Amino acid sequence: MSLNVQCVAPNGRKWTQPTGLFINNQWVKSSDGAKIASINPATAKEITSVYAGTEKDVDTAVKAARAALNDPSWRDLSGLDRGKMMNRLAQLIDDNKETLAVIETCDNGKPYLVSLNDDMTETAETIRYYSGFADKIFGQVIDTTTDKFAYTMRQPVGVCGQIIPWNFPLSMAAWKLGPALACGNAVVLKPAEQTPLSILFLANLIKEAGFPPGVVNIVNGHGAVAGAALASHMDVDKIAFTGSTATAKQIMKMASVNLKNITLETGGKSPLIVFDDADLEQAVEWAHIGIMYNQGQICTATSRILVHDKIYDRFVEAFKAQIKNVSKVGDPFDEETFQGPQVTQAQYERILSYVDVGTSEKATLTCGGKPFKGVGNGKGFFIEPTVFTDVSPKMRIYQEEVFGPFAVIARFKTEEEAVQMANDSEYGLGSALFTTNLTRAHRVAKRIEAGMVWINSSNDSDWRIPFGGVKQSGIGRELGEAGLDAYSSVKAVHVNMKSKL
Ligand code: ADP
Repeated sequence: MSLNVQCVAPNGRKWTQPTGLFINNQWVKSSDGAKIASINPATAKEITSVYAGTEKDVDTAVKAARAALNDPSWRDLSGLDRGKMMNRLAQLIDDNKETLAVIETCDNGKPYLVSLNDDMTETAETIRYYSGFADKIFGQVIDTTTDKFAYTMRQPVGVCGQIIPWNFPLSMAAWKLGPALACGNAVVLKPAEQTPLSILFLANLIKEAGFPPGVVNIVNGHGAVAGAALASHMDVDKIAFTGSTATAKQIMKMASVNLKNITLETGGKSPLIVFDDADLEQAVEWAHIGIMYNQGQICTATSRILVHDKIYDRFVEAFKAQIKNVSKVGDPFDEETFQGPQVTQAQYERILSYVDVGTSEKATLTCGGKPFKGVGNGKGFFIEPTVFTDVSPKMRIYQEEVFGPFAVIARFKTEEEAVQMANDSEYGLGSALFTTNLTRAHRVAKRIEAGMVWINSSNDSDWRIPFGGVKQSGIGRELGEAGLDAYSSVKAVHVNMKSKL
């Protein structure tokens, strides 16, 4: 059955959009026929609607994945051939990157050039990077006594459920598919219901690359239905999730039904510390990117900016000027646009509600804080880049993740105070610090409670480098060689060479 519709982007580009559930390399309707509309956040208009999986559909997909795991065409495929298949997929992503970027921009709202140059590059390169690991996943030989030794092997974890967020739809799927496929697992992946379109398009490329039926199944659907069915399924061995901390807690509970292996990448309120010896221009440029890139919808966004008292006023003025000069809010297909719409009306309203919180907490609204209506039909979910100053650690806007173009700036007087303020958070994902003092840079990097530290930079991310959080920002690591640990389990084989006891 072909479940496709023809779509046209606002820039005139056309594409064929799959709308079904992808199970066993086939497109199927959901069992109850229900669909979810995908909305273009720049116009608030429907792009198309796609099928939403039920608990029954998730069960069908899990059975397909289990069968694939036991099928010789996948189970016995050599690492070398698995790697070649993944490499073909990476190439197909490159070959289709313009179409994929158009879809991503229509569905998510991020500027087209960001989709094309950042998200699509990361997607293809992550799959390509992990393709190289597929024939390099092996164990050790461990000598014990003259009569005995053991060897270890690294085997797939099994059926992996992967729950994807809406802020980087395709690249977050690649972060999870790459290591899972390199290690020989089978996958049931659930896109975020707000942004499923690019991942559904990817499904056809997975089939074209030669992956056997059932190795990758994609079931779009509501979190509370399809996501929950996956997290609580008795025959799913692992859940990998990226999204909010609140949802991660529910998933962790559900995953306990059969003691699933879990990796969780959750929320953040990452600090960015600017010491008085910092290169101010450099700090301002990165501080701006660190919170305003991707409409501020980044779990690692450095949304709490801590500035030394001596340079505070200069920093605030320069930061405001940077917003004025660089943060051009506009049509995501306009090449000049830095900031597109927020992903959904719900997110847009949530961010604006935090403007009220900040104002009622008596922080100073230094710029922004309002909807931006000057784009297209005036119905898109655009928000002015927003900055609160005179913020203190007790305030909700200092502690809570807003997930938008919303920065808070606070001041400190000593290094000790800066570290304390940085660590005064339930989260521990990213962190950045700006100083020209080498010793201080590494001393502070060691003390910050975070999974990642950027020295004189913010929000660098690279498929070769482990990514993840501490505290309530997550469990486990994705990317880099460390990302393989989450998708392989070590089996020890004990060998006795002595014939009698
Ligand atoms: P947001 O609140 O910003 O939409 P979530 O963390 O809730 O972010 O969503 C991230 C992903 O988790 C999405 O794919 C969503 O469908 C899924 N999800 C949401 N709620 C649940 C749930 N109760 N169980 C499993 N998955 C869920």
